Amino acid sequence: MASTDKRRHVWLAGGLVVILFTMIAVGAAQNSQPDDELQVGQEVFNELKAKGEIVASSPLYDALLPVATAVARTAQPQYNHPIKFYLVHEQQPNAFATPGGNVYVTDSLLFFVKNTEELAGTLCHEVSHTIHHDSMALVEKERRIARRELGAAILLGPSKAHVLAIALIGKLHSLGYSRDAESRADLTGSDVCAASGYNPWGLVWLFRDFDAADTAHVPQLLSDHPDNQHRVDALTRHFGAYPKVFAKFSSDAKNAKPFVVPANATESFLR
Ligand SMILES: [Zn+2]
Repeated sequence: MASTDKRRHVWLAGGLVVILFTMIAVGAAQNSQPDDELQVGQEVFNELKAKGEIVASSPLYDALLPVATAVARTAQPQYNHPIKFYLVHEQQPNAFATPGGNVYVTDSLLFFVKNTEELAGTLCHEVSHTIHHDSMALVEKERRIARRELGAAILLGPSKAHVLAIALIGKLHSLGYSRDAESRADLTGSDVCAASGYNPWGLVWLFRDFDAADTAHVPQLLSDHPDNQHRVDALTRHFGAYPKVFAKFSSDAKNAKPFVVPANATESFLR
């Protein structure tokens, strides 16, 4: 009985988010802004900040920033807004790119990765979603569905952007990206990593770790796709096709650079 109630609750919550998202998507389309991506990204930021999740300062940034800075420097010429990385406090190892250039990395991801290359691979993958405008494409998709199903007969409240942010966070966390979008992010990510001086095999090692890991602890950003082997194969083919770029990198994780994080790092939060 309890489990039935719980399921119903989850379903209702999911349904509510979809409905709200749909209403907001229609509204946003009607008031089309010149800089849609920035606006959506800012709302997500505001929402995460309101939840007290964004880490303002922590020794964890000392570990993250050298990698994030190198990756952002490579990716920036391919994107029209400043690329910024933020740590957020969440139990689940995860990272997600939002429209407008912000990439959020959960603190728990820093403790999940086994080496610097696995962290770099994750950041490169996420920043590639940014380059490809994938999260904005999710928003646009919702707008198209909303227009088709609901037309213009929607009442909008003043907090629509706020609700959009909540819905978008839910979408990104549950990974609405298609397999194609994921594959493209893997390949572009490996290019970004190689150009940043990080061994792009790190992403392959990460997929292999997922396969070996307890599924409860697999980062959501990649766990929704059971075809890790397919992705490893696509990356391996890509590396083979461009030996000038990739041949200098070792495929052996024994050559990985250790990634060291302070075990009891303090965190203060943006309020
Ligand atoms: Zn992805």
